[in-house]
Amino acid sequence: MSKQTININLLNEHFVCKLCNGYLIDACTISECLHSFCRTCIVNYFKDDENKTCPICNCISHPAKPLLSLKKDRNLQYLVYKIIPNLFKNEMFKRRQFYSQNNLTTTT
Ligand SMILES: [Zn+2]
Ligand SMILES: [Zn+2]
Repeated sequence: MSKQTININLLNEHFVCKLCNGYLIDACTISECLHSFCRTCIVNYFKDDENKTCPICNCISHPAKPLLSLKKDRNLQYLVYKIIPNLFKNEMFKRRQFYSQNNLTTTT
């Protein structure tokens, strides 16, 4: 009786963006503290001049340009999609809806 199921609740903590409380989309990690956020969430957050540090722990090495501390985290994003398989499908679905709503097609 080996227990191979992963405790999703335990993992969620690492795969959920603290800014939007959703699963990470286009995960970006702050290189100083390794806290991760969706790209859009953290970029919007840093757009506010008052926000120059990590939303969780307040650390950052580039107070003038906090975005420089961000690293796109492909491995983390891969894990998120792997552990929450529907997320990838939902996200692609949303994107397709977005494109069709805006009359954009991938065909040129
Ligand atoms: Zn987010
Ligand atoms: Zn942090």
